[in-house]
Amino acid sequence: MSNTTETIFSKIIRKEIPANIVYEDELALAFTDINPQAPVHILVIPKKPIINIANAKPEDQALLGHLLLTVRDVALQAGLENGYRVVMNTGADGGQTVNHLHIHILGSRPMSWPPG
Ligand code: 5GP
Repeated sequence: MSNTTETIFSKIIRKEIPANIVYEDELALAFTDINPQAPVHILVIPKKPIINIANAKPEDQALLGHLLLTVRDVALQAGLENGYRVVMNTGADGGQTVNHLHIHILGSRPMSWPPG
């Protein structure tokens, strides 16, 4: 995992590479995961290049709340009335592979616990 905040998601935000964008506003972007782990697998990201939740700052409080409410709205738009899994892989032990904060929304299949 690179230590810079320039990632593949930066290119998606700038529309330099294609993505299936399902929601966008001035602060956030949501697009389908290129390697889906469930019938619905959407990533919600801030446009601001925060590495992960461990690197978030007090001034990011409103942005983080906005991202969670975006998760709610995107999940509803995707038809996940029966529930869904929300995941933020963080750092090496968390299995994070892209160094730009992202919230996975996984749904349309039952989820098991504990995760792997
Ligand atoms: P992580 O493993 O860091 O929690 O999640 C990164 C996610 O980004 C993975 O699920 C991976 O499939 C997805 N991903 C990586 N590169 C791209 C890309 O270029 N486009 C899209 N749509 N998803 C990507």
